[in-house]
Amino acid sequence: MKAADQATGRLPGDTCDRDWIWDREVETEGRSQALARGEAAWERQWRHLMENSAFYRRRFGDAGIGPGLVRLADISRLPFTSKADLKEAIDERPPFGTNLCVPEERVKRVYQTSGTSGAPSVLALTPSDIEMWTTIGTRSYYTSGIHDHHSVLSTFGAGPFVAGHTYFVLARIGARVVPLGPGDADRVLFGMRAGIFDTLLTTPSFAQYLANRLEAAGEHITSLAHIVTGGEPGGGIPAVRDHIESVTGAFVNEVMGIGDIAPSLCGECPGRQGMHFSGGGHVWAELVDPDSREPMTIEPGAVGELVYTHLTREAHPVVRFLGGDLVEVHGGDCGCGRATFRMRIIGRRDDMFIVRGVNVYPSAILAVVGRFRPRVTGRARMVRDGTNVSVEPPVPIEVEVPDGAPGDAALKDEIEKAVRATLTFRCRVELITESGFGEASYKTRLTRKT
Ligand SMILES: [Zn+2]
Repeated sequence: MKAADQATGRLPGDTCDRDWIWDREVETEGRSQALARGEAAWERQWRHLMENSAFYRRRFGDAGIGPGLVRLADISRLPFTSKADLKEAIDERPPFGTNLCVPEERVKRVYQTSGTSGAPSVLALTPSDIEMWTTIGTRSYYTSGIHDHHSVLSTFGAGPFVAGHTYFVLARIGARVVPLGPGDADRVLFGMRAGIFDTLLTTPSFAQYLANRLEAAGEHITSLAHIVTGGEPGGGIPAVRDHIESVTGAFVNEVMGIGDIAPSLCGECPGRQGMHFSGGGHVWAELVDPDSREPMTIEPGAVGELVYTHLTREAHPVVRFLGGDLVEVHGGDCGCGRATFRMRIIGRRDDMFIVRGVNVYPSAILAVVGRFRPRVTGRARMVRDGTNVSVEPPVPIEVEVPDGAPGDAALKDEIEKAVRATLTFRCRVELITESGFGEASYKTRLTRKT
């Protein structure tokens, strides 16, 4: 594994003389300055909501909140907004919903949501919203170490999903861009061999898939310096990250975003101590207890659910949005000089299950299964009955093994023992070949509901 230049927050081997922090003023300011910046923006956003959001006027009214400003410091007085609330708003007045706060003719870009938790929905942006997303995304990807002298192949499609906004970000950074799209491994490998890019943006599932292919072919690629993963957890799981690095020789770190808020909201610097929050001045983040939803302090070691509020969004502003990601806030000095909080995603709230009173996330299962490479591909998912969060052991887990691999009678037993030893519950492993596992290796659902 390559060591990052911790003293500067640059990628290993990057000797350029550019500042490694895109927005130094915002990204290095302390909590009180960040709050002051946030309050100023929020005051305008509040007026915008009161004047233009039928949706929030009604929601706040229902919660007994009048039109007088509720300051950002007191934002926990306001009700949460869930994904289902936004869906309802869209259904009430399609296509843009009662939560649209600008005349329709000001909407200049529309993304769609994947509908993993229901029917697809839409996200509308004004030119100012497009710019805001680009600003935040540029901070995040620049944090990862991408500079203008890099050449970046993106496996994110331009649409319909918000990850396509990354193309605006790469243009803003000034990098060379090699646009591709999801799932086309042959073209990625062609570009790698031809040396037309040194940086790859992809999901960790796809990065693993590429690494497995290179490994199986015994091929050594030297052109790749950096892989930035996003779209799902994985780039921060050591078993996943180390394998991708050892095969590709590239430095791996990750970014994350959330469609309803901003597509690239946090980015991990080369110090690799979790992802920095990049939303300063545009998005306000809170941490709440995952069970009671009471506010928590964002401090090292805290584990909770992140809740987001737009400070400058015109078309589809949200207030106290429950993002569904459970995170752990990281401490210590990452070395890059940013003062923004850092975190790692533990799992999606929806993916969490409970075995005998203990919360378990599928990412923990991935970390155990990953140790069995190359006998496994690194992908796994747990199978559970649609509605039940509580699962009785043995927990059914499907583990992907390479196509054409010889029968491996001992493997199932060894994985079951390792899960028992590490995670303390019994599981029942079923080995499934790549062709049977499905989902085209791009993004892996960590839970298969029956
Ligand atoms: Zn850092």
